[in-house]
Amino acid sequence: MAPALTTLRRLLAPKPIPPAELLLGETRIEVIFRRHASARRLVLRLNPEGTAAIVTVPKGVSRSAALDFAQRSEAWLVTRIAQRGTPIPLKAGSLIPLHGEDHEIRHIASRRGAVTFDPVARIIHVPGDLPHVPRRLTDWLKKAAKAELAAASDKYARAMGVSFRRITVRDQRSRWGSCSASGELSYSWRLILTPPYVLDYVAAHEVAHLKHMNHGPAFWRLVLSHCRDASRAKKWLKAHGHSVHRIST
Ligand SMILES: [Zn+2]
Repeated sequence: MAPALTTLRRLLAPKPIPPAELLLGETRIEVIFRRHASARRLVLRLNPEGTAAIVTVPKGVSRSAALDFAQRSEAWLVTRIAQRGTPIPLKAGSLIPLHGEDHEIRHIASRRGAVTFDPVARIIHVPGDLPHVPRRLTDWLKKAAKAELAAASDKYARAMGVSFRRITVRDQRSRWGSCSASGELSYSWRLILTPPYVLDYVAAHEVAHLKHMNHGPAFWRLVLSHCRDASRAKKWLKAHGHSVHRIST
């Protein structure tokens, strides 16, 4: 790219806002600001690990206004952090991670229609009768997980030159995925709750087992040559994998 154009792009791109810190009682948490061109208002959320407050900042809103907004929501943050250790029911009002980002479950009064989610406002809209929210949402999450895992498995099967027979999605606590000798892949639906690169890595891992039914050097060479984020994903699963099991269905 021409240097002049690169400079122009840099000038036009919104400047990142330096992070801040907030002291909540004895807990110090980081405040991360994210500019979002299409955001209409300031939105505050807690990262899934409960270590940082993330503020979505619309165009034209200053850092001090965004920080002030986070400070005014201290009580909300304290409550959310305290909730990190307890099970999260899949009901209206709960915050659950979807693709690694917290989303609020919101019931909408209309009887018909599909479950939808807004990745900017981070809301999952669930239609139908209120008592059916947990069931509908569970079904939707499992279906979405299966679709994304099937797409990722297809991608890696093509790249690695292997094929599989079918995919099932289950709620297994002990492992994220498995691969049978007959070529059946099985995954935890909870991978839909993790960051996309984590789901992607688990698919690469299981598909690679269609070639190597072990965790030997050839297996890892195959995984690493196709999946760049493998070590990052493994680290995430080790550090935060337990968090997705707090969602109770
Ligand atoms: Zn394995």
